[in-house]
Amino acid sequence: MQIANLGFPRIGRQRELKFAQEKYWRGEISQAELKLVAKELRRTHWEWQAQAGVSLLPVGDFAFYDQVLTLSATLNAIPLRHRNEGIDANKVDLDTLFRVARGRAPSGKDAPAGEMTKYFNTNYHYIVPELTVDQEFSLAYEQFFEEVEEAKALGYAAKPVLLGPVSYLFLSKAVGSDFDKLSLLPKLIKTYAELLARFSEQGVEWVQLEEPILALELEADWQAAITSTYEALKDAPVNVLLASYYGTIAHHQALVSSLPVAGLHLDLVTAPEQLSEFAANLQPEQVLSLGVINGRNVWAADIDLIAERIGSVVNDLQGRVWIAPSCSLLHSPVDLDVETELAPALKQQLSFAKQKLTELTQLKALLSTPKSSSDKAEIDAIVATCVARRDAREASADKQVIDRVVALNSDDYERDTQFVNRQSVQQQKYQLPLLPTTTIGSFPQTPAIRGLRSRWRKGEISEDFYNDQLRQVTRDTVERQLKLGIDVLVHGEAERNDMVEYFGEQLQGFAFTQFGWVQSYGSRCVKPPLIYGDVSRPTPMTVEWAEYAQSLTDKPVKGMLTGPVTILHWSFAREDISREQIATQIGLAIRDEVVDLQNAGIGIIQIDEPAFREGLPLKKSDWDAYLKWAVDAFKLSAAGVTDETQIHTHMCYSEFNETIAAIAAMDADVITIETSRSRMELLSAFEDFEYPNEIGPGVYDIHSPNTPTVDEIVELIEKAADKIAVRQLWVNPDCGLKTRTWDEVEPALKNLVQATKVLRRRL
Ligand code: GLN
Ligand code: ZN
Repeated sequence: MQIANLGFPRIGRQRELKFAQEKYWRGEISQAELKLVAKELRRTHWEWQAQAGVSLLPVGDFAFYDQVLTLSATLNAIPLRHRNEGIDANKVDLDTLFRVARGRAPSGKDAPAGEMTKYFNTNYHYIVPELTVDQEFSLAYEQFFEEVEEAKALGYAAKPVLLGPVSYLFLSKAVGSDFDKLSLLPKLIKTYAELLARFSEQGVEWVQLEEPILALELEADWQAAITSTYEALKDAPVNVLLASYYGTIAHHQALVSSLPVAGLHLDLVTAPEQLSEFAANLQPEQVLSLGVINGRNVWAADIDLIAERIGSVVNDLQGRVWIAPSCSLLHSPVDLDVETELAPALKQQLSFAKQKLTELTQLKALLSTPKSSSDKAEIDAIVATCVARRDAREASADKQVIDRVVALNSDDYERDTQFVNRQSVQQQKYQLPLLPTTTIGSFPQTPAIRGLRSRWRKGEISEDFYNDQLRQVTRDTVERQLKLGIDVLVHGEAERNDMVEYFGEQLQGFAFTQFGWVQSYGSRCVKPPLIYGDVSRPTPMTVEWAEYAQSLTDKPVKGMLTGPVTILHWSFAREDISREQIATQIGLAIRDEVVDLQNAGIGIIQIDEPAFREGLPLKKSDWDAYLKWAVDAFKLSAAGVTDETQIHTHMCYSEFNETIAAIAAMDADVITIETSRSRMELLSAFEDFEYPNEIGPGVYDIHSPNTPTVDEIVELIEKAADKIAVRQLWVNPDCGLKTRTWDEVEPALKNLVQATKVLRRRL
């Protein structure tokens, strides 16, 4: 039995790659220096994997920006606008790669960056390949081959890991004209065949081709493309390990089991039940790679239970089994060993990328027959650790929280009366004009605010001084809004570093790491909170700030909270209870805050859910089940208030066509969404559904530094009014303004208020 790995995080345990990349982009180090940092990281990561007993070391998991982009460069699928004049059209260099990613690089002409989008249901973002109808492919970029040589020079057997041709095409976009991307498949397969041949010349025996699209429900032509691709690559001089991940591929079992590939990798963490069927249908010589250690979370695995679960398959298949993480470890933080401030009881529950390799070593020990009494002792110790860990988890359960969840009944999820009634009660109370103006919550997080926070965190300034300064910022923010003439104000969120972390730090059941970073895109990393225990809210979290802001004006100031679904999605959540249960617990905690805000005189409360759509499962047939509990968690957080209290929610960019019924079921009194870039196209879903509640479609693209003119905003509101009754409409920007400067924000909001006035006069 071999230990396999699909890929290792490249950022380095202290984010060395990030800092080197950014220095290179700023011109502070040379390309050679950047490459040296990269080489050292690869060396270290291979060494860790080899020490854990991984036999074939992944190569190609390293990327200077994004592995999909590296592949595009390798295949010479680089947009024309990023190519350097005078450079061989059959070669791609590193700066060209950076120009695709960022629109600029230390050398070459600037050009708009390639589009970036989420990689399946992860928080990793890739650069979308742009393919034209006459796209040609050729091997144009050497990084892959150089890294194979590098691994060989260190004495390792390399296993290149890369997206397979069908998933690559699927993730790319057709540019220039609308054409069937599959028409490019034959050319693409030819270049993949050349790629595999080059690897073979380098002495490579196994190549991991990833087809994550198998976790989706595919149209017939894409299914057929999988078959024809692997038939065509059948004679390649290497063994192909066909890897799937992030979900079950059981719905494609017959198709996958008949492919002429040397091995299959299955994600048995998200879909353990698919093992038996694939094992039963394995071809005589095929290898089965069992992805049993979660590559996307931070918790130590119950390896004793895993060993029990896969024991019989391992026995049946003998030497044809590999054990592996479920997917690349790209989505895990790098190394738990560098955490010095975690409580020991929590630390023993955790496992980051490096530790996951050790878990595989231990799993192999559990699956092997002990040859000596020391083998036996080792096995006993591993099992004892697993049992102790489970016992500790159980012992730390918060009975109050659990009982409260059990006691919930359907009334707890519903407001007192229907929306129409609430609407008139609220109108009576707030007397808002037609087309009320508001913003989404945050105002510019100036360098002064960030500096203040970092000095406070380091203990250089007192808590009192910090809060006093923030109060001044808040007062200034309120005054500016009053001067602008906005109807429903916000306090500005100056006290918040991040919309999840801020709440996590105040909730029971959450913890934070020092270095638990994972790559989000390029050099950007995020450090999600850990939800390790039952969640509750010991004391009010935002009430003081809301009260203070409200004390400054007679106009309503919105209370501002992050919703349960978003808090869950943007955290590393525990796995011993369901996501639904965790969302319910967070929903109750937020509900407590909502009720306290109301009791403190805050009449309008916004519960942000920008990550609501992100949680949608890969398979559409699983959507309803997710939407049911996600909507419920939101409703639970919102429904504790009286009819007079107006609940808002906010979602960013959102394609609502297929989820509009669920959005309506959330029953927020007002929803604000991002619609300016689509020029109100996204509102059609609401129009067609006859969405009953109020909507604030964004009329100002906050991603751009440009100031929208009064006329542009008037036009957008008119477009919105074509689809939605005016009395249902609010006027607001697309999203929060924290990344903008006051110089950008003030003129834009001035125009927004002005545009509203123009229309109110006209209507
Ligand atoms: N209230 C938050 C803000 O304005 C919402 C951010 C978001 O939607 N991501 O910053
Ligand atoms: Zn937003």
